[in-house]
Amino acid sequence: MEYERERSNLVRTLRERRISERTLKAISKVPRHLFVPSIHISHAYVDSPLSIGYAQTISAPHMVAIMCDLLELQEGHEVLEIGTGSGYNAAVMAEIIGKKGRIYSMERIEKLAKSASESLEKAGYSNVDVILGDGSLGYPEHAPYDRICVTASAPDTPKPLVEQLKKGGIMVLPEGDTYQNLYVIRKSMDGEITKENRGGVVFVPLVGDHGFNAFTGNR
Ligand code: SAM
Repeated sequence: MEYERERSNLVRTLRERRISERTLKAISKVPRHLFVPSIHISHAYVDSPLSIGYAQTISAPHMVAIMCDLLELQEGHEVLEIGTGSGYNAAVMAEIIGKKGRIYSMERIEKLAKSASESLEKAGYSNVDVILGDGSLGYPEHAPYDRICVTASAPDTPKPLVEQLKKGGIMVLPEGDTYQNLYVIRKSMDGEITKENRGGVVFVPLVGDHGFNAFTGNR
């Protein structure tokens, strides 16, 4: 299989970061080279973020892996992702949740949504729907979700996303502007919300009604 050696080297690097075997197995299967622009293809299996145009990035594989582990994804889950970008994170999650699960992934930049859909199709992921729109409002059409994964940094936790999380569900999201932290939000079976800070990260901003302003950059 193409790039198999590069993928196993990447998996070896990630194993040193104590990523779960389930997530490593998914990473070992997803052809990241199909999700990066052709000018970056030689760096597709380097553990770093890469530009995907429109001032956006495909996240580093270790960040994708950490978020998948924090989400505690299970087979059959319905997952809402905010920030499709290249589609790579959606593909890794789709591997973990399997054919009985579904990913609804939202992207606000039309050209990225289109190219991510094409890459996902080429890579054979039919359990991912890419939706063009403001993900800070969530996607009520299929709510509530078992898991919500936000891959752009919000000024604070968008209320619609908390509302669209299932009881017993988990949401992972970065928050902050200059200084950002990654949070794990859990909704108990009683509807109680807890929020745990898992440390500093760097993401592009979440832009939208419950995100930063597209023109001023302010909240
Ligand atoms: N998950 C992506 C991947 O695997 O390539 C990386 C995502 S990139 C770090 C963040 C993405 O969030 C960008 O593509 C950006 O356009 C998108 N974004 C920002 N605000 C958004 C919003 N309100 N709704 C949907 N997408 C948004």
